[in-house]
Amino acid sequence: MKNLEKIINLILDIIFPIQCLGCNAEFENLKSKERWICFKCLEKIKTRREQVCPVCEQFSDGGKTHQRCAKKTFLDGLWVATEYKYEIVSSAIGKFKFNFIRDISFPLSRILIKSILDVEEFGDFQDLIMTNYSQKSDEDEIYVQKEKNIKAETIIIPVPLHKKRYNWRGFNQAFLLSVYIADKFDLDICENLLTRSKNTRPQSKIKSIEERENNIKNAFICLNKDLIMSKNIILIDDVCTTLATLAECAKELKKCGARNVWGLVVARR
Ligand SMILES: [Zn+2]
Ligand SMILES: [Zn+2]
Repeated sequence: MKNLEKIINLILDIIFPIQCLGCNAEFENLKSKERWICFKCLEKIKTRREQVCPVCEQFSDGGKTHQRCAKKTFLDGLWVATEYKYEIVSSAIGKFKFNFIRDISFPLSRILIKSILDVEEFGDFQDLIMTNYSQKSDEDEIYVQKEKNIKAETIIIPVPLHKKRYNWRGFNQAFLLSVYIADKFDLDICENLLTRSKNTRPQSKIKSIEERENNIKNAFICLNKDLIMSKNIILIDDVCTTLATLAECAKELKKCGARNVWGLVVARR
């Protein structure tokens, strides 16, 4: 199966060589995951300068949910890396999701990382995601020890796909992004902690906000409460629209004792 996939990719590469989604150039000397958005175009993508509250979408320090909006969601905040309106971003997400191109997780993860590190001041979200991330060389041993204790506190959970959709697509795009983020920030991924209990319709195919909320309601179940208790959780997805999916995940995680639940997405539609 793997070999067959390789052969198909090789043939596809000859007929339709990968062109950078930004400048259309072909980079035969690069690995295929590096060709979808070349380094120059990646550099040019602007990350979001000002984060907003996930509920009212008004300015909020570092994407934290306003106190006044907190009764409407279980999400403590949402970090959005860049803007969906940038053509290169929307076409990369589209190809990732609908054309089944796994390698696009690589440039998208670079955008996520850039947006997290490339800010003037680190806020609550950075505190959570960077608990284990530091220049280890100038830390003393006690500090490293402290880091290890903190490590257990933040975990990454990719927004799960229903099995049927997973089988159809062959991968969960949120999980592929999570792998790069977990690696960069030295965090653990808990892939199978949260599961989809019902096969919901794709949110992107439903127009009304109310219908989207009903569609996703109680769709997630946490399989191991002990692993969630008192943890800080970063929920990762490629894109979010109405917040309904992330909010439902957060609801279930909070019910199981999670301390903080933040969302992290490439863009919001
Ligand atoms: Zn390019
Ligand atoms: Zn708000």
